[in-house]
Amino acid sequence: MQPQAEMRSPMCPYPFRVLEIAEEMPRCMTMRVAPDDATGDTAFAPGQFYMIYVFGHGEVPISTSGDPAKSGELTFTVMAVGSVTQALCALKQGDVIGLRGPFGRAWPVDLVKGRDVIVMAGGLGLAPLRPSIYHMLSNRNDYADLALLYGTRQPQSIIFRQTLAHWREDAPIDVEVTVDTAGRDWPGKVGVVTELLMGRRPDPSKTSALICGPEIMMRFSAYALMELGIAAENIYVSMERNMKCAVKMCGRCQYGPFFVCADGPVFAFNQVEQLFRIREL
Ligand SMILES: Cc1cc2nc3c(=O)[nH]c(=O)nc-3n(C[C@H](O)[C@H](O)[C@H](O)COP(=O)(O)OP(=O)(O)OC[C@H]3O[C@@H](n4cnc5c(N)ncnc54)[C@H](O)[C@@H]3O)c2cc1C
Repeated sequence: MQPQAEMRSPMCPYPFRVLEIAEEMPRCMTMRVAPDDATGDTAFAPGQFYMIYVFGHGEVPISTSGDPAKSGELTFTVMAVGSVTQALCALKQGDVIGLRGPFGRAWPVDLVKGRDVIVMAGGLGLAPLRPSIYHMLSNRNDYADLALLYGTRQPQSIIFRQTLAHWREDAPIDVEVTVDTAGRDWPGKVGVVTELLMGRRPDPSKTSALICGPEIMMRFSAYALMELGIAAENIYVSMERNMKCAVKMCGRCQYGPFFVCADGPVFAFNQVEQLFRIREL
């Protein structure tokens, strides 16, 4: 008998096989994986994450970066920063990993229906945001104006180039990209991501924002949006903390009164604004 989804233990990894793994930039890979047996489920909400177990190395939390409407497979984008993520990035097609999840609170894609949505991404932060954009584009009539403002270090560190080009040319979303530094051959904008807000006049009564990137980028972006009148409760950020269990037990990801694994990773900015001010928390 096959276990039903509700009978599955959240602590038990299920086998998934790598279908494809491709380099986004040096040390950063995007991989598509599919359940290796009938026990694997692939339903998730945009912004949720999985615990990925690389056999012989360990387990790490990684957000989904693919289209939530695509069933039968999952996509992850991973930056190699330490032992487990290096092992993940070194996987080859056909290798098997263990997955448990999905975990965590998702981007509020239902709550922001009917509103203008500004998505602000910094660096690899575009990865956990991409599923929310896929979702909003698939349900385009549910939303008013959509904008993606994406900032990264340099032209070489732009991820999801094909997706961005497609959205820019063919999708009903306003896409702007900027880089911190570039050579003369870069035809685009240079500057930090908050500069992409200049000249925009969002209507605070009907605008929400989703932000993901390094904490300093999220902080400056949230304050820039608040200066434009958008309330902290309509701005959402996704937090990262070291975590082990992902089920609100081990306490490693505790963030003030919250557990990032279960109360987050997505928070309304008014929930965490005070915590953002505390250094090293
Ligand atoms: C909810 C969530 C979603 C995430 N999504 C992604 C994703 O989509 N793609 C991706 O590449 N990474 C993501 N991460 C970060 C990823 O989990 C860490 O990079 C990974 O755990 C590092 O493990 P390691 O063994 O490779 O490195 P380690 O040796 O454990 O760490 C290497 C360095 O990274 C720091 N570090 C480790 N984990 C974190 C963390 N969670 N936050 C901040 N610093 C950390 C360590 O302090 C150390 O300096 C996510 C983290 C969380 C909590």
